[in-house]
This record gives sequence, structure tokens and C-alpha cells, in this order.
Amino acid sequence: MIRTTKNFNQERVAQGRKVGVINLGCARNLVDSQTILGNLKRQGHRITTDIAGADTVVVNTCAFIEEARKESVDTILDLIELKKQGKLKRIVVAGCLAQRYGKELSEEFKEVDAILGVQKLDRENIPAQVSTLSEGEGLTPRHFAYVKICESCYNRCSFCIIPSIKGKFVSRSIESVVREVKGLDAQGVREIKIIGQDITAYGMDIYKEKALDRLLKEIVAVTQNIRWVRLLYAFPAHVTDELIDTISREEKICKYIDIPLQHISDHLLQSMNRSITTRQTIDLVNKIRAKIPGAHIRTSFVVGLPGETEENFQELMDFVRDTSFERVGAFVYSREEGTAAYSMPEQVPDTIKRKRLNALMALQQKISRDVQKSKIGRRLDVLIDEARQGEEGISLGRTQYDAHEVDGVVYVHSTRKLNPGDIVPVEITDSCEYDLVGNAL
Ligand code: SF4
Repeated sequence: MIRTTKNFNQERVAQGRKVGVINLGCARNLVDSQTILGNLKRQGHRITTDIAGADTVVVNTCAFIEEARKESVDTILDLIELKKQGKLKRIVVAGCLAQRYGKELSEEFKEVDAILGVQKLDRENIPAQVSTLSEGEGLTPRHFAYVKICESCYNRCSFCIIPSIKGKFVSRSIESVVREVKGLDAQGVREIKIIGQDITAYGMDIYKEKALDRLLKEIVAVTQNIRWVRLLYAFPAHVTDELIDTISREEKICKYIDIPLQHISDHLLQSMNRSITTRQTIDLVNKIRAKIPGAHIRTSFVVGLPGETEENFQELMDFVRDTSFERVGAFVYSREEGTAAYSMPEQVPDTIKRKRLNALMALQQKISRDVQKSKIGRRLDVLIDEARQGEEGISLGRTQYDAHEVDGVVYVHSTRKLNPGDIVPVEITDSCEYDLVGNAL
């Protein structure tokens, strides 16, 4: 029988069972999945990565856009198939899809045993939860970790369903985050990714002011092993001069800023409720470039928003061409029930949306190729993610300008033994659109 509950800890999974977790969606979900795994282990369950060999599988779903929902449903169907073949006993569906469509899922998929929705995780105790995981049980390698500093989003963009799925914006306390970071530092982690829907709003609820800058200074002061602190998801209207100065000044903070701009046309910024104008956006990008030498800006854009004319789209193309963003992601607008944009007039036909997406990505591919090419001959520090030995052994790593599984990689040739987590100087010898090749020095 299907039960719906919001608290994972209330869901009884018989002690000692082999449990696997499948994570879908963004890195923020990955943090929750990692915490669920830690909780399960503490409760006495055995963690397995072999889904077909598990007694119970928890799938942490995403429902951000149509594509993500499809992936979530396909995964549930695959698990149902395994259950029918007798390879799996219980299926638990958690996360955003379960939160948004719990009733429909329970009616449609009778083989699913429990639907949990968005987890009310005990954020103040995350270190204890996650540190129980052994090598190979977690969802990230031991040399890097995500640190989620806030839940849900402070903003209400008209096209986005996330705030209504996730509920109220909640920041963790500085003490709790610093405690987690100290624990990770003691375990030898080399890179942490500070993550949240909008980390630049951190503290607005509990401290009544933006506190990311303060938090970062404390993190930098207490860490020894951690060499890179990466910031994921800044909301343009919330980026302060103090924050830009701190990124510029603190060596450990990656000169990489992920700042989804979504569009550049004034009337679309306004209809999206982004709290920023075209002029302010351009000024912000210029300020980042001027104050943080070598800064790599990753941004994302939505094409085909309601009311986006060909002229607006060309304005976006010109902006991308003129600015030469180092990293760009783009997606087509997905009309989501329950959002303000759903009922806006002038919805753009799917064929035009696709055409615009392809044109934007083709433009960015050229820009990215030039950006990567300009690194040939430079010496860059590379964090090794996958070490391969032997004469033909080419290890995989990243520079501080690359986020794991989002940006490119560096193929590192080395005559000496490298290990995951090593940070080595590499001379760049070749490049392609997104990746680099080099020799460890
Ligand atoms: S900043 Fe806007 S688009 Fe991003 S999660 Fe928040 S509401 Fe959604």
C-alpha cells in the first residue's frame, strides 16, 4: 500500500536491508541523496550501488521541466520492471516529482511502495549523516563535496516551479555550515562546492542580511586541506560588491562564478521577475571581469520565453557574442502549470524555441573553442578526478574554471603516479571546444 509522508525518517525500511539510492536532477538533489544515504547507513542499512541487487531503492526525482519529469518517470518504470522480475523488493519515490505529483504517482504506479516528497532533512546534522559513508558508498568521490547552505529559493521567477515545490527559503546557520566544512577539511577533501538555488540570498531569512561574504571568510579561515571553494548559483540581482571583492581577494575561492542570467532583454527580465535590468546586468558582468582577473563566468539562458520576439532573441545573441562568456548553458522555456508564466500570452511555438536554442549553442561552441585555445602554452593547476597509471595512462582532471560534470575536463599525461585529489601543475598543449590536454609538470 502506498503511503505519503514528508519525513524520510518516519519511513520504516526494515533494518539491515540493502538499500540503493538513485539521484536524478541537479547537484542540489545530489546533496539530498547523499544525506539520505548517510541517514540510511546510520539506521543500520547496508548501502549498495548495485541497484538490481538491492532490496529497496530510493529514487530522488526531479520535476523542474518536462524533460526532467520524463527522466524521473522512465526511471520509476525501469525499477518497476526490476521489481516484476523479482530483483527488487521495494521502490521508494522521493524528491520534487513526488512532492508535485504524489497523488497521480500513487494512482498510476501501484508497484511503488512509498512516496515521500521533498525531504525535510536535518540540515544542522549533515556532517554526522554524511561522514558515516565509506569510500564507494557516497555519490561523489572523497576528494570533493557539495555543501548546501540553503533550501528552496528566495526569488519568485515567473517561469520557475521550484519555490512552490520546495517551500520557504531557509538558510542554515553559519556555525552549522562551518562545522560541516571543518569535518570535510579534516577528511582531506580538496574542493568544496557551496550550493543552493540562490546562495547570494544566504542569510536574508535568519540574519536579515546577505551573509554569504561573511560565511566565505569564515570558511577560508578554518580550512587547510581544502584548496578550492566553488560557488554555485548566484542570483544576479543579489551579487554585492563585497562578494566580488572577496572572490577576488581570497586565493581559495575559485575564480569561477556560476550566475544564471536567463536573458538580456529588458522586457523579458521584467516579465521573468528577475529584479534586474539590461543595463544593470551588463554593468555587473563588467564589474566581475574588472575586479576578478581571469574570472570564468558560467551562465545559463532560457530561450522561447512567452513574448520573446526575434528581435529579443537577436539581442541575446549579440550579448553572448560581445561578452564572450567562458561557459554557457541554455534550455528552452518549458511551460509549467502553477507558474505565472504559464498563462502569459504570446507563447512561442516549439519549433522556434528549438531553432533558437540550436543557434545559441552553435554560437557558444565557437566562443568556447577560442576560450579553450587561448590556454595553450599556459601552466594551470589541475585537480585530478580520475587517475590512470602506466605509459598510456591519461588521467582526468579539472582546472579551477571547471565544475565537475558540468564543464570540460583536462586530459593529463604524466610520467609519475597521480592520485585522485592531487592538485598538479599542468602545461596545456592542446584544446578542443570544451576540453584541454596537457602534461603534468
Ligand atoms: S532564482 Fe528563479 S529560476 Fe532560479 S530557482 Fe529561484 S525562482 Fe527558480
